[in-house]
Amino acid sequence: MTVAERLRAVHARIAAAAAAASRAPSSVRLVAVSKTKPASMIREAYAAGQRDFGENYVQELEAKAVDLSDLPGLCFHAIGHLQRNKVKVVIRRAGVLHTLDSVRLIREVAERAAQLPAAQRPAGVAPDGRYRVLLEVNVGGEAQKSGCAPADLGELIAEVERSDALVLSGLMTVPPHTDAPAGARPYFDRLVQLRDQHGGAARLPELSMGMTQDLEQAIASGATLVRVGSAIFGERER
Ligand SMILES: *Cc1c(COP(=O)(O)O)cnc(C)c1O
Repeated sequence: MTVAERLRAVHARIAAAAAAASRAPSSVRLVAVSKTKPASMIREAYAAGQRDFGENYVQELEAKAVDLSDLPGLCFHAIGHLQRNKVKVVIRRAGVLHTLDSVRLIREVAERAAQLPAAQRPAGVAPDGRYRVLLEVNVGGEAQKSGCAPADLGELIAEVERSDALVLSGLMTVPPHTDAPAGARPYFDRLVQLRDQHGGAARLPELSMGMTQDLEQAIASGATLVRVGSAIFGERER
């Protein structure tokens, strides 16, 4: 199958899952996760109408953004664990940041973003030039995983709202691995519950959750951004 055909199949899955949850298909946006895949595949997806792409690794993001700079409206989402010493590079390339999980990291992003002239900010920032940010929550409480503890969420939300350079988009999670897709559902529901405890959709409109294996579960719970890689670009090398 071509990338365009795979994209169509993923959109059909999204539409079916949305319909099953009595939601409008347009309430779910697809972020095509292109990590480890060549820029040429991003071009194929772009030609098929895809605009939002997720990248995990900073050097790879940088190289692809340069390679693809001729494509207007191409928007990179930074979805990998973000180190403070990489923030400066990342915000030149990604307008949406999914993985803020500490006060120190939020402060670094806010400071660096404020220093970057609006004309140099990438596609995907809000119309007023602010970076869209999501807070990553470690809903499974896994020791080795990034993401903040649910108990820290209030403090992190307040920190984002203090910055003139950032706009709070919502919450993101990567649930613990389970063999059956349904195993992720309680973790997705937990993220929804946390959103409701912290001001609901008015304050935290986006929920970034769901991948190739479990996007249906995530949409049933209320995902507005699904991050899908292998269903679009094929399996990755390990
Ligand atoms: C790789 C990755 C995805 C996509 O995973 P697939 O199973 O290939 O759809 C989504 N989110 C994050 C944070 C990832 O690292």
